[in-house]
Amino acid sequence: MADVTGDYVQMDNVDWVDFPQGLCQGDVKWKLLHVSPESGAWTAIFDCKAGSSFAKHIHMGPGEYFLTKGKMHVRGGSEEGGATAFAPGYGYEACNAQHDHTEFPEDSEFYMTFLGPLNFIDDDGNTIALVGWRQVYDAWQASQGG
Ligand code: ZN
Repeated sequence: MADVTGDYVQMDNVDWVDFPQGLCQGDVKWKLLHVSPESGAWTAIFDCKAGSSFAKHIHMGPGEYFLTKGKMHVRGGSEEGGATAFAPGYGYEACNAQHDHTEFPEDSEFYMTFLGPLNFIDDDGNTIALVGWRQVYDAWQASQGG
């Protein structure tokens, strides 16, 4: 998975794993697909049940996503100046984008490549967890019994 020469994942052969509580609320599952130590990038797919959300975070680098199913409110959603994505939808989030509310009003799924870590913060802006390729790799390996 951290091999720089190439990678392939048969996604339907990988089981969904609970995404760590504290970084999300509600039923969020993920599959880590690739990490890239040389660039700090990592790619995952997320299964987010209706009513789930991600905890407040800042993207330390830009990211691109493909919402394959459902609906996602980013940065408060389009009614609050952010974006509301409807599947099939593509989005780009800039370096330093702060996401106070990333919410899923219906069962949704999205694929995303992150360039650099996510800085999960509390309401005062203090870091709760800095989640980069190494942290997701270690968490994923642990979930796979390794
Ligand atoms: Zn975000």
